[in-house]
Amino acid sequence: MPIQQLPPHVAAQIAAGEVIERPASVVKELVENSLDAGAKSITISIREGGVAEIRVTDDGNGIPPDELGLAFRHHATSKLSTVEDLNTVSTLGFRGEALPSVAAVARVVCTTRPPDSEAGARIEFRHGACVGQRHDGRPPGTSVQVADLFGDLPARRKFLRSAPAEAARIQEVVTRYALAHPEVRFTFSVDGREVISTPGSGRLQDVILSIYGSEAAGRMLPVSLADGDVAVDGYTSAPELNRRNRSYTTLLVNRRWVYDRSIYYAIEQAYQGTLPDRRFPFAVINISVPPEQVDVNFHPTKREVRFRNGDRLFSLVQRAVREALIAHAPVRTATRSFTPVDAGPRPPSSPESPRLPSTGGAAPRADGVALSTTALAPAEGSLRDVLADLRVVGQIRQTYIVAEGGSGMYLIDQHAAHERVVFDQIRQRRQGDERPSQPLLAPMTAELSAAQAVTLESYADLLAGYGFALEPFGDRAWLVRALPAGLAARASPDPAAALCDLLDAVAVEQVVMDREDALAATVACHGSVRAGMTLAQEEMDALLRQLQSTENPHNCPHGRPTVVHFSEYQLEREFGRR
Ligand code: ADP
Ligand code: MG
Repeated sequence: MPIQQLPPHVAAQIAAGEVIERPASVVKELVENSLDAGAKSITISIREGGVAEIRVTDDGNGIPPDELGLAFRHHATSKLSTVEDLNTVSTLGFRGEALPSVAAVARVVCTTRPPDSEAGARIEFRHGACVGQRHDGRPPGTSVQVADLFGDLPARRKFLRSAPAEAARIQEVVTRYALAHPEVRFTFSVDGREVISTPGSGRLQDVILSIYGSEAAGRMLPVSLADGDVAVDGYTSAPELNRRNRSYTTLLVNRRWVYDRSIYYAIEQAYQGTLPDRRFPFAVINISVPPEQVDVNFHPTKREVRFRNGDRLFSLVQRAVREALIAHAPVRTATRSFTPVDAGPRPPSSPESPRLPSTGGAAPRADGVALSTTALAPAEGSLRDVLADLRVVGQIRQTYIVAEGGSGMYLIDQHAAHERVVFDQIRQRRQGDERPSQPLLAPMTAELSAAQAVTLESYADLLAGYGFALEPFGDRAWLVRALPAGLAARASPDPAAALCDLLDAVAVEQVVMDREDALAATVACHGSVRAGMTLAQEEMDALLRQLQSTENPHNCPHGRPTVVHFSEYQLEREFGRR
């Protein structure tokens, strides 16, 4: 083919791909425009996951009728005019690409009227072509209706997920922007049903309440810390309110929803030692920085930003969250460090872990995640040997088995150990064809969140293989008719809650494991003896024997250690015998 310049509508559809990846991108762009227009109220409604229709209506400052055509041209914006403006831009948009991109890939009708304008205007596009523009009466503000998204781009359509999955992504966008802007009233409905409605009171706790409910709202701790021209504010959860994945942490920079790995980490670090393993805080954190200290024109969809002084922000966020926890949440007693058995007995000459200061309440974690894959392999044989020789002394806190062996004292986490055993059994069974399933006496209904419904859909086939019998039962509700036999006993009395928890857990596991292992690990976890159960002597002995013959006795499937070791040396040192 000879080189040729593409016809404008082809070029526009290609360019649109960068901005509009899926229905949620349309909603993000339109909501950002409404916020930039100073709206006090934004109403979003979608049909069929946003593919059939997306409608965003605001009461913002509108577009002057004579500029409406221009607003749909590429690189047409009212938000900046020089390159220097980019350094200080404080609006969410500034590239002038959203409206033309949406108009290139859908049927779009926009009506708008500035408050001081006599009349409004209406413009209509069909997959890139303007098909009409006229005066129109309407209240002040702007409405954009987007229909038949990717209607003439079948290849793009094919990449979309199911309508509930796309709707869930849209709901996430609306949720995050509602949290970012408590002063704006957000209303969101899906196929005619209202799912989000915030009061626009300006109080973040009101938004948290309306979106996440009173239980969560009641356990959020206020965060507020400033250092010079940078400030961190928002809410973060008391440690007992935690979640199985990161999706409950909303990070905002100058009220723009962003993703920043290192700041997420700063938030999580602030919780170190106070959260159960693999649980994540619930948080809404806004960082206010002077616009010139952050580059927002760096990521195609502005999802990531760059900071001029990232380290300072990292420690400010960590301190802010930490101080909120110390000021408002009960502080834990510090403990001393254990030697995970994986690391092998330490030679007497090696330095012991220093005592931790008791301020801040950080308990050292022997979570073994880093140890599990690297340091462990050589010691594995020796742990098997150790397990073979252990003598069970008793159980403490219905959680740990105390045992003594060749070189000191061993604590075994009964849940982690049993999880490993069940996980191995499940994996072996998968090779065979056994699918023990246990019907419930009375089927139960499980109400799923949007995210849980998505997980359920994508694991439907595997879940059935494990012995789950599930039936759709209306809007995001499922009927649980049977559970895997191993799970049924532990899941009672609330199989529906067990299913919800399991789906949340799978969503986390699938980040680090393949689909099948993610489900196996989760089912193992839910079917294992929990902390808090009294075990008989024989049960403890049996558990240690079973653990001994697993593929990797060192860790549970999530990488937590199953056994920790107090060496004889440690004990003697503690008692001043050395
Ligand atoms: P950008 O937001 O980057 O400027 P857009 O293509 O999203 O580019 O919008 C182009 C222009 O149209 C904006 O700069 C703004 O002037 C106007 N506009 C878009 N949406 C709205 C709205 N909801 N209310 C008022 N003005 C709007
Ligand atoms: Mg915009």
